[in-house]
Amino acid sequence: MILTIHRGAHQIGGSCIELRANSGERILLDLGMPLTQPNGSDWPRGTMTRPSQELRAGGVLPDVDGLYDDSKPEFSAVVLSHAHLDHHGLAHHIHPDVPVYGSRGTIEMLKASSLFIPGIAIPADMRELPFDAAVAIGSFAVRGIPVDHAAPDSRALLIEADGQRILYSGDLRAHGHQRHLFDSLPEMAGPIDVLILEGTTVGQAQEAHGFPNESDVERRLSDLLKSNKGLVVVIASGQNIDRAISVYHAALKSGRELVIDPYQAYILMKLKDICHEAPQFDWPSVRVKFIKSHVRKLKDAGLWGLACQMSRAGKVMSEQLASGASEFVYLARSSRATVALLRFLTKTARPTVVWSLWRGYLKKDSPVSRFCYEHGIEPVLIHSGGHAHPEDLAGLVNRLRPKAVVPIHTEAASQFADIMSNVRVLRDGEAVEITSL
Ligand SMILES: [Zn+2]
Repeated sequence: MILTIHRGAHQIGGSCIELRANSGERILLDLGMPLTQPNGSDWPRGTMTRPSQELRAGGVLPDVDGLYDDSKPEFSAVVLSHAHLDHHGLAHHIHPDVPVYGSRGTIEMLKASSLFIPGIAIPADMRELPFDAAVAIGSFAVRGIPVDHAAPDSRALLIEADGQRILYSGDLRAHGHQRHLFDSLPEMAGPIDVLILEGTTVGQAQEAHGFPNESDVERRLSDLLKSNKGLVVVIASGQNIDRAISVYHAALKSGRELVIDPYQAYILMKLKDICHEAPQFDWPSVRVKFIKSHVRKLKDAGLWGLACQMSRAGKVMSEQLASGASEFVYLARSSRATVALLRFLTKTARPTVVWSLWRGYLKKDSPVSRFCYEHGIEPVLIHSGGHAHPEDLAGLVNRLRPKAVVPIHTEAASQFADIMSNVRVLRDGEAVEITSL
């Protein structure tokens, strides 16, 4: 079997891995959008949905023959590890005859993103990876093993072919609400020949990734909600279900109600069978703040009845958030709609803004960060990152004992060897026979 990392061997995001069996059959693991342009600036709006040929010529799509709709498809499948754009954002460019596999949570997140977020397209033929059972794709057997990460229902991917067993970690951590999945991964995976391991935090300062774990986030939020007398607005990713759970728990501990927008309410509803702790809009102490554009999208998708259910279960108006500020915590996006609400609220009192995302995003020109800067509001940073600390990665490798560790999703591949053994650093596009690693 031949392994090629088309992109991601030396960068965080844009991951794309190919495995070619001795039979010539090929599969791809992830097809992500790079986080930034090569010069570090943001991508122009709408880049992901530009024509495939244009993106391939411009180096945005990896230069892989037989994958896209301009030629006869040579791939048996694309398998996605999780629903973050830097892992799936370009998957809709593959030939429509190539099926795309992902966990149920991943597929639900992709569908929700395409429903609510402009500029996101999803693959034509999406198929569900069974819960921890192998699926046969030609001569490959592929299993998605649940892992703890900031996207719901994330998987590490175990691939068997030609008598070799390869584990691709996807993105994972040992410090979220599902940290037990990190502990059980070696047992679930069994013996491994090659580990393709994410290393986002390798070579980076711990502070860059916020508090050490999600329990710290919950505790800090709870302390802040108890001591604060005004409205607290928490800015987080709508797909970070652990964070929604943490904010809900903190709200309950402080006697406040959790307020979410229809997009967040929809995502949490779609995941309720996968994650029983995910707060639902019809639970006690959960309210929904309607946002016109979200409601319009629900209506366009034929979900007007759902919008009505959300309204009946506990719609809350901007005026109530202003007059009863100390009774609520609003979990929101860094969007124009949130800024409009913040503008309304600041007429009576200054809300506290909690930045519950990677701190690097605060420096970027997002609507809420700009609003805070213009109004002299210093956001409170309460976050814990989605990626395992280097010592956790080293501990995982110690337990998995692969014959080779191949770094991916990292800017410090050369530093892996300082914390683990049998490291084999590849270059993007370098094809290697698995048995030679
Ligand atoms: Zn991720």
